[in-house]
This record gives sequence, structure tokens and C-alpha cells, in this order.
Amino acid sequence: MNIKHQKNYQERILIVDDLPENVRLLSSLLQDQGYKINSATNGNMALSIIQTEHIDLILLDIMLPIIDGYQVCRILKSQAETKHIPIIFLSGLDSELDKVEAFKAGGVDYITKPFFLEEVVFRVKAQLDAIANQRKFKQILNQEIIEREIAERELNKSRALLTGVLNSSLDGVAAFEAIRDRQNKIIDFRWLIANPVAAMTVGETTQTLEGRRLFLENSPDHLFDGLFDLFVQVVETCTVLEEEYYYNHNSLKLWFHVVAVKLGDGFAMTFRDISDRKQIEITLKKANLRLTYQANIDSLTQIANRRRFDEYITQEWSRCAREREYLSLILCDIDYFKAYNDTYGHQAGDNCLYEVAQGIERAVKRPADVAFRYGGEEFAVILPHTEGQGAIRVAEEIHQQIKNLQILHAGSEIGNTLSMSLGVSSIIPDTRSAPHTLIEAADTALYDSKLKGRNRVMYKSAESG
Ligand code: GH3
Ligand code: MG
Ligand code: MG
Repeated sequence: MNIKHQKNYQERILIVDDLPENVRLLSSLLQDQGYKINSATNGNMALSIIQTEHIDLILLDIMLPIIDGYQVCRILKSQAETKHIPIIFLSGLDSELDKVEAFKAGGVDYITKPFFLEEVVFRVKAQLDAIANQRKFKQILNQEIIEREIAERELNKSRALLTGVLNSSLDGVAAFEAIRDRQNKIIDFRWLIANPVAAMTVGETTQTLEGRRLFLENSPDHLFDGLFDLFVQVVETCTVLEEEYYYNHNSLKLWFHVVAVKLGDGFAMTFRDISDRKQIEITLKKANLRLTYQANIDSLTQIANRRRFDEYITQEWSRCAREREYLSLILCDIDYFKAYNDTYGHQAGDNCLYEVAQGIERAVKRPADVAFRYGGEEFAVILPHTEGQGAIRVAEEIHQQIKNLQILHAGSEIGNTLSMSLGVSSIIPDTRSAPHTLIEAADTALYDSKLKGRNRVMYKSAESG
């Protein structure tokens, strides 16, 4: 039999027996097993050894001179420093009562003399292994406690950090968990966490929001109602939502910049009230639109002005050149307008210019066809994607509209009512030439109509050759 210990730490066993040959026998047996041995032949001797040596296990005879084994055991068990030492009783007293007494006194085991050597070895080893296991278990437990304490400290630290960040954020920050029905369809969301800004925005506190439903509870005028489908999309498809969201209910009109990302089976959201910025943006946009409009409109006739004419003809010239399409231009000039002013006064002249502009606008119907006040009592109409014949038809229509106005013109040398001369020209623009080619041709046509007696439409092609 050999179950020798192969380990660094050698356990020390105290053998207490009044028979020296017993002590010798047990000592050599247990030394063979790799244990360190102390021995005593009476109780007092045993107690004094225990004062000085670190003993891991005691083999204690019951029948000892002066103080018996039970007493030695009771003394050791009553003292804090020694009560943990396991005691195995050795005794020839083989009655149940003695065994009971031995366990009552605090023994962990009981070996009856005469003993089998193997039995002693196994029982000793069993006790010491149990202690070693206990020690190991305690070590593991301690280690776990330390690790848990560290993890808890870290957790508390990151919790404090998170709370600090959330509390100091100027944006609303919140997290939600999806609520699903039996078909696994999302029917609502539950607030998991909200920072003070988020809670304040919905008129709550961070505590009252936790666990509450996002959509059902404050319906129908809930702040984020318009975003339900988009939130569902974030959770179901992992897409990131970034929206400028407008909330308009009763007198409350708010703009939010909302960002939502999937988080578990829910989403995290940050939102910022951008109502002030949005208001400024809207005002600015309106002001810009008004400015652009004003910059392009002739204030007297309320139609597009010369500045816009230059811009538009350049733009359409390039477009028609690219598309190999006709571009046409009509130039219109009121006949004897100086005389009109002289006869009816400058104010009447202004009113007349306004009426004429409106008459021209009535004749110009296609969205891309635009009428302009070209200067003084001259007007122009640009007709993209229109060849000569089409442009002449529009010019005739303008001519008719002016005639229809029936504005009395006593100073006219060719009739009683206001008339107009028109020059029309067309070209498929060429990127190597410029719009003035077309303008000059239309101007020549207009000049022709003046020469030929006014009150008419004349055409001149702008194509060279
Ligand atoms: P023609 O038949 O050859 O075109 O003769 P006309 O008198 O119309 O041409 P002219 O170029 O000699 O005179 C144009 C007149 O238009 C001169 C000017 O007083 C008048 N006019 C130009 N702009 C305005 C304006 O904004 N308001 C008014 N009331 N008259 C204007
Ligand atoms: Mg003129
Ligand atoms: Mg004129």
C-alpha cells in the first residue's frame, strides 16, 4: 500500500497515545505517507505541542493518564485557535456510547483499536483531503468575491459615468424596448431609460417614465406619434434613423432632430429641439425667395425683368444647343408710345405698360415660354423648343391680345387704338455662337415691321447662310 503525497505542503499530524509502540507504529506509517509527525504520550503534553506547532490533524487516544482524550478534545474545541483542527479518536473502547461521546466532544472520526494500518491511512487522508478541499474552495470563493467586488466597482463607476453624461446632455437621450403581440409584431415601445431633458420634453420625470409605454399612454397627441413606423423599421431592419421631425398639435409646433439606432430588441434615441433654428431657417428661406423673386421681377409690369431675360436666354441657349432643338425669340415694341405719354401723361403710360404686359402673358401659355419686360416699352418672349412657325403663331396671338385691349391712342399715326410691332426669330443654337445672334435677328425683324408700317409681325431666321 502506498498512497504517498506528492505535494509541496506537508501536513503535520499529532499522534497522542500513552503506548509508545503505538506511537512508533503510527509515526512510521504516516511518515511513510509523507506527513510530518509530532507525538505525545499524555493530554497535557499534547496541549503544549499544539501551542507551538501548526498541527493539521490529531490522532487522539481516549484512554490517557491525568486528562483523557475527550477532555483534551473539549479543550481544543473551546479555543478559537484550535477548534478547527480535526480530531480522529483512537480507542479500544468499542462501544456505541463511546463513539457517541467522541463525536459529542467534537471528534470527526473514530478508529477502533486494534486498527488496520490501511484504515488509519485512508481515514487520515480522507480528513486531510476534506480540509484541503475546503481550503481550496475557500480560496476560490475569496477570489470570486474579490473579482465580483472589482466588477461591481467598475459597474458602479460606469453607471456613475453614464448618469453623468446623460444628466449633462443638452439633447434628449432615451432607450426603448419593443412590445410585441402574439404574432411577434411590434405594437408599442416601453421606456427603459430617459435622461432629464428627454423626460422634460414629454412633460415627465425620469422616474415616472421608466416602464411606461411610448405610444399608447399619451395618445392621440403624443410627441413622437408620427415616428412609430420609422422606429419599427429601425428595430426590424437595423437601419439608422435620422430625421428632422415636425410636431404640430394645437398651438404646439416643434421641430426635432431625431437619431435612432437599434439597441437589443428596441432602440436608443437622441433628439434635439431645433425649433428655434428651424424658425430662423424658414424665415431666411422666405426672405431669400422674396429677394430672388424681387431681383427677377419688373416692379411696374410684374413680369420677369431684363436681368432674368439675360439669365434665361443664356440658359436656354445652352440647353437647346445640347438637345439640338429650336430656340425662338419674339421682340415686341409699342407703336408711338412717346406720343401716348405725351397725350395721356406718364402715369397713364405706366398703366398702359402694365396692361400690355398682362396681355402678352395671356398669349404665352407653355411653362417654358417666358415673357419679359425688355426695356422701356419693349417686351420679349423666349420660346424654348419652338421653331419659327410656332413662334410666329405666339407672336400673332400677342398681337391679337394687344389689339383686344382696345386702349385708346389718339396720338397714334396708324389708328385709334394702341398697337404693337413684333419681330420673331428662331435658331437651333450652336455652342460656338452666342444668344446675341438670335437677339439681333429678332431686332432686325422688329425693325422691318416698323419700316413696313408698324402693327404687324415680321420674321427673320437667325441661321447663318
Ligand atoms: P415707335 O413706334 O417707333 O416705337 O415710337 P415710340 O414713340 O414708341 O418709340 P420711342 O423709342 O421714340 O419712345 C419710347 C417711349 O417710351 C419713350 C418713353 O417716354 C416711353 N417709356 C419708356 N419707358 C417708360 C415707362 O416706364 N413708363 C412710361 N410711362 N413711359 C415709358
Ligand atoms: Mg422702343
Ligand atoms: Mg415704340
